[in-house]
Amino acid sequence: MSKSRRSEPKESDLEPLPIYHHKSKLVRAVKDSTFLVVTGETGCGKTTQLPQYLHEAGFCKKGKIGITQPRRVAAITVAQRVAQEMGYALGREVGYQVRFDDCTTEDTEVKYMTDGCLLREVLADPGLSQYSVVILDEVHERSLNTDILLGLLKKVFSNPDKANKGRRLPLKVVVMSATMETEKLSAFLGNCPVFVIPGRIFPVKCSFGSAVGPKETESTGYVKEVVKVALDVHTSEMAGDILVFLTGQNEIERACDMLYEKAETIDYRYDVHDRTVEGLLILPLYGSMPTDQQRQIFQPPPRGIRKCVVATNIAATSLTINGIKYIVDSGFVKQLNHNSRVGLDILEVVPISKSEAEQRAGRAGRTSAGKCFRIYNKEFWEKCMPEYTIPEIQRTSLTAVVLTLKCLGVHDVIRFPYLDSPEERFILEALKQLYQFDAIDRRGRVTKLGELMVEFPLHPGLTRAVLKASSYGCPDVMLPVAAMLSVENIFIRPGHPENQKEADQRHRALGSKSGGMNDFATLLSIFQLCKSSEKPSAWCKENWIHWRALKSAFSVETQLREILLRLQQRSDFPVESFDGNKNELFRRCLCAGYFTNVARRSIGKAFCTMDGHGSMVHIHPSSALFENEKDLDWVMFHDVLVTSKVYIRTVCPIRYEWVKDLLPKLHEVDVYELSNVAREEVTDEEMAKWENKEAAKRQQEASAEEA
Ligand code: ADP
Ligand code: MG
Repeated sequence: MSKSRRSEPKESDLEPLPIYHHKSKLVRAVKDSTFLVVTGETGCGKTTQLPQYLHEAGFCKKGKIGITQPRRVAAITVAQRVAQEMGYALGREVGYQVRFDDCTTEDTEVKYMTDGCLLREVLADPGLSQYSVVILDEVHERSLNTDILLGLLKKVFSNPDKANKGRRLPLKVVVMSATMETEKLSAFLGNCPVFVIPGRIFPVKCSFGSAVGPKETESTGYVKEVVKVALDVHTSEMAGDILVFLTGQNEIERACDMLYEKAETIDYRYDVHDRTVEGLLILPLYGSMPTDQQRQIFQPPPRGIRKCVVATNIAATSLTINGIKYIVDSGFVKQLNHNSRVGLDILEVVPISKSEAEQRAGRAGRTSAGKCFRIYNKEFWEKCMPEYTIPEIQRTSLTAVVLTLKCLGVHDVIRFPYLDSPEERFILEALKQLYQFDAIDRRGRVTKLGELMVEFPLHPGLTRAVLKASSYGCPDVMLPVAAMLSVENIFIRPGHPENQKEADQRHRALGSKSGGMNDFATLLSIFQLCKSSEKPSAWCKENWIHWRALKSAFSVETQLREILLRLQQRSDFPVESFDGNKNELFRRCLCAGYFTNVARRSIGKAFCTMDGHGSMVHIHPSSALFENEKDLDWVMFHDVLVTSKVYIRTVCPIRYEWVKDLLPKLHEVDVYELSNVAREEVTDEEMAKWENKEAAKRQQEASAEEA
């Protein structure tokens, strides 16, 4: 293998990290047991250093070192950093892989990746034979995929002699956590050893504000308040960088705009307390940001300039920015929660937990004493903030994960070794959905379709629509839609009202080009128009579309197409024929995947969902169908946004006949029956008996209807 030039690591980079003094003991500890828990304060060097130590100790001679991250940005950023520290070009010896973006080669030795990617690898190779070490990082975040990986690795490697048979080197599993629960983790992994990296954290003085109290949990007024507090810190506190916690891209961009505007008016001769401070550098940090911009975050600001990073929760533990002395904490976070009111997973802005607030505050005390300004009051702390963050596995849909487990041969998904078990009803919900999608049969066994579905890194409904379109021989209409729905928001929403008006007009015009009454078709048409235009980036600019998002959509579409082509080689790939017009075909394919998201016109402007929940929903103003709802009867939607009302977004009209045969599936299944089959294999005899009973029942119903 040709090695790129290795530069000497800068002493200032490596010397002071707490992990540095434990190098040989750590390497020893990894060698000595199958499972090892490593814990240490955020920023002590776990993520960036341990893989390098193991690399140096020769672990890569017989396999790769894999490190998982719950967040894609963290995987990318850290890989960049480590490649740089080791003096390698990114994507060669050190690389990363996240969904739809693989920056590795055959020869990659240190591979950072999202936990979702490793889970896919387990699917293809349950023994992880390519690896010599697997490091599950940021386990305290308790992401769904990391929790599942923990259970799987425990299951497979609890008996290391058996699991390591045929491997060149026994697999080592390291579990890293910034805080807490190390005893629980160790107990879960057969009382494995725990390595504590002692660290020092300086005192952080926390103060409460007055702007947000228990009544403000749903308002967004906190953005303004956060900006105000950050500016106060800038003008009245001594030098030192500021880290502001908000919840998402839109908010962060808005806050940055406000900060720019206000910072312009500061007169540094009179307004600032610390005379060495002569300017403010404002930097956003969120998941879907371009990576070159992200790099700037870590660079020290020019002399005399104070850096102010406005970030999502990613800066709480995944990424450490040096030089932070002040924290401004909004008290909120964006979280994916299962909403039982609408029966769907929804990204919601919710109050953070107290432990999360402590973690945020701690970021100010890494290298010297710091201060944390909480904009919420003590009452909000006491009444609205839970003690700990609930693990994702206990609050989101498990559909995709249950299918993955089933494909891995874990038939009894209820008694799988979970670190914290999800509620049984969530597992039942997932089984029910998989059954409705025909991904599992009544016995809870994966069907042929289920085997195809698991190959796509998409929501099962979307996958189902793609497969349907492919079976009709027209994947070209659905792959772009799936890609467009898998990337960040493509529509630019300018802050200025004048621009906003123009953007709205452009977007509406794009909608009517595709027939005017179908948001999915609009996505398809934007994809096609942009792709076929002479200068796609200029086309985007003109139409107020994010070029970067579209570029990702192009790449995602190619990757989905590759997966599909691979699956179509199988002799059992379904083929169907269709004689109707193209428009109908398109919407029917969507129905195959989204029949769980169907709503029928109700009173006034409201629609009523047909999934058994019967929730009242409204069409979101961003939809082309908004204000045309009076002509609509049945609609189908991609997702839901909950504010004061429940809105459905990305909508298209359908006909009842198209879902008539699918809707009963939403109700016919008895979840307890499914869970019973999930617990124990049913014999063929029992199944035949049961199926006969069902057939008789249906026949009875049919003859009753006729009569
Ligand atoms: P841990 O995983 O223990 O939280 P990390 O290994 O992420 O710690 O970070 C160790 C040190 O490396 C921190 O001081 C952090 O600031 C620095 N660091 C990490 N990534 C970068 C980067 N991209 N640029 C500059 N410094 C970085
Ligand atoms: Mg880390």
